[in-house]
Amino acid sequence: MEIYNLTAHELKDKIKTKEVKVEEVVHSYLNRIEKVDFTLGAYLYVAGEEALNKAKELDNKIASGEELKSLAGIPVAIKDNISVKGMQNTCASKILEGYKAPYDAHVIEKIKRQDGIILGKLNMDEFAMGSSNENSAYKPVRNPWNTDMVPGGSSGGSAACVSGFEAPLALGTDTGGSVRQPAALCGVVGLKPTYGRISRYGAVAFGSTLDQVGILSRDVEDSALLAQNISGLDKRDFTTAPIEIVDYTKALSKDLKGKKIGIPKEFFAEGLNAEVRKTVEDAIKVLKENGADVKECSLPLTDYALAAYYIISSAEASSNLARFDGIRYGYRTENSKNAVDIYFKSRDEGFGSEVKRRIMLGTYVLSAGYYDAYYKKALKVRNLIKQDYERVFKEFDAIVCPTSPTPAFKIGEKSNNVMEMYLSDVYTVPVSVAGLPAISIPCGMVNGLPVGLQIISNYYREDILFNLAYSFEQSTSWHTMKPSI
Ligand code: GLN
Repeated sequence: MEIYNLTAHELKDKIKTKEVKVEEVVHSYLNRIEKVDFTLGAYLYVAGEEALNKAKELDNKIASGEELKSLAGIPVAIKDNISVKGMQNTCASKILEGYKAPYDAHVIEKIKRQDGIILGKLNMDEFAMGSSNENSAYKPVRNPWNTDMVPGGSSGGSAACVSGFEAPLALGTDTGGSVRQPAALCGVVGLKPTYGRISRYGAVAFGSTLDQVGILSRDVEDSALLAQNISGLDKRDFTTAPIEIVDYTKALSKDLKGKKIGIPKEFFAEGLNAEVRKTVEDAIKVLKENGADVKECSLPLTDYALAAYYIISSAEASSNLARFDGIRYGYRTENSKNAVDIYFKSRDEGFGSEVKRRIMLGTYVLSAGYYDAYYKKALKVRNLIKQDYERVFKEFDAIVCPTSPTPAFKIGEKSNNVMEMYLSDVYTVPVSVAGLPAISIPCGMVNGLPVGLQIISNYYREDILFNLAYSFEQSTSWHTMKPSI
């Protein structure tokens, strides 16, 4: 048995009982990365030396009998828009080429404090804009289940890395679906917590009222383990809440008796692939068998979420990305005549076309003449969508639906059709607009490609997500399937 096949909680046990050394763990992953990442393209930077140094330090601690911290010796790979001190943080953009983060993000501080090991920085869609990982300025990421296919996006590197056994755990960010959708397409678990559950300090902002750091793992227990360690209040992110973090491990039970689940009919309408639909319906039956009370529900504003999301997220992106000016960070044009020229040319040469599209769209909807017609209206729609969910959560503990309307698609298939690409997130975006937590878990296969089941719960009820997801996992074996790469 290769070490890289183990989940994080299995690794944790083996490190504790001294069955494996942390250095062996790190070597196993570095070898695996060397073998498959040439094909998958999940990593933009492998922190081999740093990881091995940390491993040696930990092995010494363990040998001297020191008590082990919660993530001791567990490798975690990080999306390249979350700051790790001294490592590159490019957001897969040319404009941040050469930029190194001068400090650790809050989540990284927490991982390091628990003796987790940072394995490297992961590929993504530029500035987290995309659903296929084809928007990276460096290289595309390939889906481990079929390397002609996209892994999803924007955390495609994070999903492919965990699915391809290049790390047991990865961090991503989810603004409109960027953790859940690639998790679904790569057959791994993807958690997007409640907006405000995990600090965004040190994560590069895309849409500030939507962004959340999320977790990719191969099973639900691993997701709970990392969530437990990185959640909570942070004074540097005013949106984090002083709400107690319940012990997620206690939520890991198979029994669903008394749990009320709503199935929103709007998520099973036109556009959903028939085989994906069948797979998700079969998965819902499993939750029923485990004791849940399942009923249809309605979220009538679902259709408006995508439009509201693209207006709000682009408006915020146009403002957030103004700081990349060719002066302060990374890339600067080589042929400028004056200061203004530096701004224009650096941005023109440094940003890719999808990022430019969002900046233009965002600037337009925020401009004096259109603010009321687009931006303000989108905010009103957002409020109504929230109310829709609040109403449903008065009756139900959770909502269950597909994560993505289709399995993974071919590289290049949607890259010239913006609308089709945006529709990949039709089931994840409403949750983000409402700021709710959700998890995607593998629930079946269609034509050799994984399908994801999305579970949504009320604010700060990640424990319910873990309960339902774990229950499903205990009754099925989809999470144990391995791509042949
Ligand atoms: N695919 C969506 C977008 O392009 C979501 C991205 C995200 O969640 N970061 O905006």
